Amino acid sequence: MTDSLSAFAAAKLADLDAAHLRRRLTPTHRLDGLWLERDGRRLLSFSCNDYLNLSHHPAVIEAASVAAHTFGAGAGASRLVTGDHPLLGELEARLAAFKGTEAACVFGSGYLANAGLIPTVVGPGDGVFVDELAHACIWAGAQLSGARIIPFAHNDTADLAAKLAAERAGLRHALIATDGVFSMDGDLAPLDAISDLAGRHDAWLLVDDAHGLGVVGLGRGTAALFPDAKIDLAMGTFSKAVGGYGAYVCASAPVIDLLRTRARTFVYSTGLPPASAGAALAALDIIASDADLTARPLAKARRFTRVLGLPDAQSPIVPVVLGDAARTLGAMQALEAQGFLAVAIRPPTVPAGTARLRLAFTAAHDDADIDRLAQAVGALMETA
Ligand SMILES: *Cc1c(COP(=O)(O)O)cnc(C)c1O
Repeated sequence: MTDSLSAFAAAKLADLDAAHLRRRLTPTHRLDGLWLERDGRRLLSFSCNDYLNLSHHPAVIEAASVAAHTFGAGAGASRLVTGDHPLLGELEARLAAFKGTEAACVFGSGYLANAGLIPTVVGPGDGVFVDELAHACIWAGAQLSGARIIPFAHNDTADLAAKLAAERAGLRHALIATDGVFSMDGDLAPLDAISDLAGRHDAWLLVDDAHGLGVVGLGRGTAALFPDAKIDLAMGTFSKAVGGYGAYVCASAPVIDLLRTRARTFVYSTGLPPASAGAALAALDIIASDADLTARPLAKARRFTRVLGLPDAQSPIVPVVLGDAARTLGAMQALEAQGFLAVAIRPPTVPAGTARLRLAFTAAHDDADIDRLAQAVGALMETA
């Protein structure tokens, strides 16, 4: 490979390799939402976001199959052309009712939702206040918007208050954007205090609850734990606890109409396939009707944190920060040898020096397996 682009790519990869930051795909056969097979090995996964194991639930798979047979394998066009198949409107009505908003808009994915939503509501002359640990697609949306980006320290409402006090007057519109459950740390945003600040500074509030829907607040998401919080834009995905693919934004009717008219990742992208919409509808039925199921992933995570003497888990996500990328890769391999999959998460997904095993607990994990994992992880934490 001698052309200039390939030489550029090869040099970049060599640098990343040297820093233990090169990424590689591993073909993975997920067997049942809990167990998977890679490299000829059967492993118990603690790295899937399929918290309720719904990706392999018979009713969800059946709904996807019926939807594909009824409406086809693809939407055929963007929603505004001919891609607005009937399941999408049904799904939006269901989401709005579930979240208690006037309306909802379904997007192709969570990344597309935030990349389209943020530039629709703010632009040059406006400001976006972003939690420093917010998901990459919130940053992408903020950058695309052309608004000023004002980061605030993670979950630090005093810092947010100071930045709003200093900057708000110079901005036309202001948006505060945060995860509900933080994807790599598993902690919750203090939505009551953030909402209060938004109200006092005339700012709008966007909450990305990709990891909250289905697993906190009786399955209703992080907002359900903060009933007084006013959330203008309640975003979430079907790709985590819902077990499928796609995303949504719940908001007032005018806001949703504006998104449908102006959000570029909605207007210029093909509608969610019928199978994904059908699966999401079936999964939401289960989430809305089975409170015991939705409580289980957090209970499993708490069992793990109790056994290890860590702070109580606030969500099904438990980070075990080891710091160094090479050490974290070594820990992942050691766990794999014991039959566990716990994928190492490295920069730039997490800040430099905070490489970690990010453990995700699901409803179906067996208590004895969790105890075995805790023992293995405990041993790794001691061998610095
Ligand atoms: C996974 C995730 C997304 C992206 O959702 P996709 O549907 O996978 O594109 C967005 N925000 C957060 C917080 C996430 O964890």
